[in-house]
Amino acid sequence: MSLMGTNLEHARGRNRRVAFEVVLRHGPVSRAEVARMTGLTPQTVSNITAEFVDTGLIREVGRRKGGKGQPALEYAVDGEGAYTIGVHLDQQRIVGIVVNVLGEIVERAQVLVASQNPEQVLGQVERVVETLVPSHTLRRNRLLGVGVVMPGFFERGVFVSYGPLSMEGWLDFPVGEKLSRRLRLPVYVDNDATAAAVGESLYGWGHQLRSFVYIYFGLGVGGGIIVDGQPYAGVHQRAAEVGHLIVNPGGKVCACGSRGCLERYISLFSAYEAFLHSESELEAATPEYLLAEFEKGNPALERWLEDAAYYLRIAVNQLENMLDPGGVVMGGVLPGPILTALIDKVRPLKPSIVSRSGSDLTRLAQGKVVVDTPSIGAAALPMSYLLHPATQERLALHASDTNSGSNSSNTFGVSGFADIPFFAGEPTS
Ligand SMILES: [Zn+2]
Repeated sequence: MSLMGTNLEHARGRNRRVAFEVVLRHGPVSRAEVARMTGLTPQTVSNITAEFVDTGLIREVGRRKGGKGQPALEYAVDGEGAYTIGVHLDQQRIVGIVVNVLGEIVERAQVLVASQNPEQVLGQVERVVETLVPSHTLRRNRLLGVGVVMPGFFERGVFVSYGPLSMEGWLDFPVGEKLSRRLRLPVYVDNDATAAAVGESLYGWGHQLRSFVYIYFGLGVGGGIIVDGQPYAGVHQRAAEVGHLIVNPGGKVCACGSRGCLERYISLFSAYEAFLHSESELEAATPEYLLAEFEKGNPALERWLEDAAYYLRIAVNQLENMLDPGGVVMGGVLPGPILTALIDKVRPLKPSIVSRSGSDLTRLAQGKVVVDTPSIGAAALPMSYLLHPATQERLALHASDTNSGSNSSNTFGVSGFADIPFFAGEPTS
């Protein structure tokens, strides 16, 4: 990975990104250090840091002690300088959070989904966001954008494929565009499992593992492949559909058309199926209810756990042999104690190409971002979009054209940021 900048004027957007990333990752740092790490000239770094300080993204944290001459001023990212909103939407509930630049949750709101109708759901999302923003002192112009994550696949913010439990009326629905109109903010849409992997990469295991596979437990099972800090998207933006690895040929029928897919054995839904039998019970089941049954020692759940561990062991072996990852990390909305018990049962892992270099403890690990993982991943999308060109190719941005008053793209090639002071357009000087 390169954090090198360039001094060409037309690349000023990229220079800001790399400079910001250096301060975020290595702060407190002096301007000279930023210049050294990015390859930018001291003058360029000086201009950029002045802008960052003006707009509140970074701040001076004092002068370094010791050494000769005038001690260098040091800079760090200002946790309160900018915020993003993350929304996780699934078949049952909407969780919204406000996160600062450091990834800390400063506000949270949750509601139950009242209807499966897309327009009505977006109305609920709008109200969640409205309760989040005025309830905090943050200024709207410090909001970098809204990330929305949900099951399914998206192309440029449009829902293009059903998840295993289909959400009727969502096919071809332009989630990003519609929501951006309502909120008058840039909106980024992604698959919930991919976003959870990105969240884990930014704020959890990513600090130790540059490359890993993430297995996401939702109602179904999804995943993310993080390569050198970035999600690998695949040709059709559908990489890491871990849930549909066939681990039991000829086994249980799956909504994807195959039999014996992993998610038929290890997902939340498969756990519910182990002890609930009527359709209405299955629809009403929640992770909290599952946890209560687990803690009661429900024998059907014990059997489910044994089966789940058996099939997960096969999947981990396939992933390791195929990808040689730094580790396999598991997270999502499956209650933590159940996930811990599952990981215990999966060990010892099968031998694979990585078994000589890693212990079972690092080969398979529980995620470190344990609360609101998908929402944190969602909130990371706007930052990720600003900081990583690769993310810009992967994600669609939908900015309302009613608020910017301009069609021209700005520093980040994004029209939606035109009314945010820091992102107010390419400098004309
Ligand atoms: Zn399947």
